[in-house]
Amino acid sequence: MAAPGHHSQRKGQQNSRPQGSNNSLHLDGHRCDRPDVKASYIDTHCHLFTTMSMMKEKLADTSIEPHRVDLLAKRLFPSNVKAVVDIHCDIPIGPYYEQAAALTEWPEDFKYYFAAGAHPHVAMSYTDETHAKFVEIMSHPNCVAWGECGLDFFKNKPYTHEAQRKVFIRQIEAAVSLHKPIVIHTREADAATREVLDEHMPRDHVFHVHCFTSSTELGKWVLETFPNSFIGITGVVSYKLPHVQEFIRSEQLPLSRMLMETDSPFMTPKGIYPWAKQTRPRDVARRRFEFCHSGMIPFTAELVADLINQGREARGEAARTDVDEVLEVTRKNAERVYGIQLENGDDAS
Ligand SMILES: [Zn+2]
Ligand SMILES: [Zn+2]
Repeated sequence: MAAPGHHSQRKGQQNSRPQGSNNSLHLDGHRCDRPDVKASYIDTHCHLFTTMSMMKEKLADTSIEPHRVDLLAKRLFPSNVKAVVDIHCDIPIGPYYEQAAALTEWPEDFKYYFAAGAHPHVAMSYTDETHAKFVEIMSHPNCVAWGECGLDFFKNKPYTHEAQRKVFIRQIEAAVSLHKPIVIHTREADAATREVLDEHMPRDHVFHVHCFTSSTELGKWVLETFPNSFIGITGVVSYKLPHVQEFIRSEQLPLSRMLMETDSPFMTPKGIYPWAKQTRPRDVARRRFEFCHSGMIPFTAELVADLINQGREARGEAARTDVDEVLEVTRKNAERVYGIQLENGDDAS
């Protein structure tokens, strides 16, 4: 998904439109705890600073300080959210990763991790200085990966394609030499992504193709060619992308190679609305979720479980999965990919 954290970060708080309609949920209305979901989970790809900025803007709440990303964990995340991988992909890179890592008011058993790298949208601004800065950031104790980096040919001017390719390759090479997992963004660039990975990604390197929207062919090739590759699923799958739904249904993308992510603040998973209808008073249930956050992962996991079960039923297989199993397996995948070890990770039992 194009998740340009950099847009909001660069432009700051313009267009602050008033809440306007009473159609928006207030801040705490965006909590969506599900007592029926027991497993703990990790949001493996989110943009917390952008989420805070969007929150401030959409809720017209001037008291919100975008750098206080711990507010999200304290006010909105259910206690099952044990960790996030926050993505910093702008140029120049802001002080946000350091500020967030230094916050002392995170919930007690919550872990803040981040990744840093240049998004393909900013490839044209990538310099030696940028590169050196990212290399330096990699040694920060909370930094678990390089990225997101990659190729995005959706609505991007063709003259940027070559710059994107060069910057992507440069970042892969640096991350590989530093033994850092890589977060890959690829959109409408299947052939070029395949070519770059084929030539420059060592077969055993660990990477996460995030917010997967590409062709099943690319997905299968990645999984077969790189045994330590993982594919990220976001709420976008609940709106469109029947081929990605089929990739999950067929289990050609098996749970063992899947990661759950939000790419927040974008793409609130669709399943949240029927849930709100069932659990909230009628006037509240009709209001809009203005942004997505890590606490919404179970709605995407539930969709994944449904798709897998549909496939198994169609193939006459007896086994069934559920939301807790999806969360638990993908959490273990996340721990492996990002080298994260949660203290109380086994509370699904
Ligand atoms: Zn992305
Ligand atoms: Zn992103």
